Order: sequence, then C-alpha cells, then structure tokens
Amino acid sequence: MTTFDSCRLPPSRRMKPVPAAKAPGEQAKSKGTRAGSPQGVQWGKSANLMVTFLEDPGASMKATVLAHMNAWGADPKVAVSFTEGAGGQIRISFVAGDGNWSEIGSRAKNVADDAATMNLDIDGISSTSIVRRIVMHEAGHCLGLVHEHMRQPLVDKIDPVRAIQHFANLNGWSEAETRRQVLTPIADADLLHDGGPDPDSIMAYFIPGSITTDGQPILGSTRPSARDIAFVARLYPGEP
Ligand SMILES: [Zn+2]
Repeated sequence: MTTFDSCRLPPSRRMKPVPAAKAPGEQAKSKGTRAGSPQGVQWGKSANLMVTFLEDPGASMKATVLAHMNAWGADPKVAVSFTEGAGGQIRISFVAGDGNWSEIGSRAKNVADDAATMNLDIDGISSTSIVRRIVMHEAGHCLGLVHEHMRQPLVDKIDPVRAIQHFANLNGWSEAETRRQVLTPIADADLLHDGGPDPDSIMAYFIPGSITTDGQPILGSTRPSARDIAFVARLYPGEP
C-alpha cells in the first residue's frame, strides 16, 4: 500500500553547526514536533518563498511539485507563493527511501545552506491524489504547520500499544520513533491555532480505527480542509 503516513521530523544533523541566536526558551520548543503552528516560525505576513531543487527530478516532476505547493496560495486571502530559483529558502531533495519530511516554517533558516530542508520520496507513486497530499502536506510544514493528529484530544484517542505495532508494520518505526512522531501530544499553549484539533486536516496522519480507543479513524485528507485554508490565511494575510 502506498502511504503518506511516513512523513516525519527531519534529522537534526542537517542543521548549521552554529545556529542563529535564539530567544530564551526557544531552544526547547524547537526540538519537538508541534501541531498547529508553533509561535515564531512564520515567515512574515506573506510567505513568498524561493524553491531550489537539489537534484533534477525532470521538468514534469518540478512542475507538479510547484503546482501542488502553490495550491496553498490559490485562495485570494492566502499570501503564499513558491517560485523556483537558485539559493532558495526551501531546498528539496528526492532521496528514495528517506521518507517525506520538511523543516517547520522559518526553522529552515537553521539548515546548512547546501542541505535539503525537505525530502520528497514520491518517485514511482502513481496516485495523483497521494502525490498531491504528500507535497501539500510538506509545503504545509514549510509554512509553519505541524502535525494535527498530535494535538492532545486526538492523541488521547490513539491506543499506544496498537499504534506502536501499526507503525512498526507500516513504516518500520521503533517504539521510540512512534512515540515521538505520533504519541507525544502538543500543548495548545505552544501553538497558534484556530480552536480544537481538525481531524480532517491535510496535516493529520491517517489513523485507522483499528488503533483508536473508540474504533473511529482519524481520516486526514488528500486536500487541505476549509479550516486549513482559513488558518493559513490567518498566518499569511499579506501586507496591509
Ligand atoms: Zn508531516
């Protein structure tokens, strides 16, 4: 089965050796995954970002990736764009087997200038809706969004024992990895958010009913939900 559930935090070894100065307390926050959008990782009132492809995936793949990323800016209330160019803030690799991941928002500035800030492990996926889901989900991370399924009310619905088995089978994850990626809840106090968690968000994993305590799945989506779009419009309203 082709899955989009393998999106994970990027490895910390990709950071610059000497990170930019951080405000007191920011270091601790920056270490974990945070759902919604963490305070301080937004790019500004607009996110007009340059995208550099570190490998050449071919003109067709480039066009597909840029189109899906720019779908976030399709709503006139959303001041977001992604343009290909050299020296981009967003640097995309296509390493097969490395999974799908992205830095969260402006934390990409802490990554070494020649290293990827995003990996797309999508070669060979024939489903256009799954490719759209993966690319828009990772672009959502670029904009500062994090995993919606990790907000406390949704984590509370997941059975840990069954989840650890499920993600070991699905992604080969260790217990520690599943605890890090799925079972560690996010405090609303750390986030900008628009209310309770959105189980239909493109930023939620698909969590099957077989591992939830009430037997109901968390569906996620292959398109941004209406709340996703409204929230990104709030993050990036453009200059007044
Ligand atoms: Zn993700």
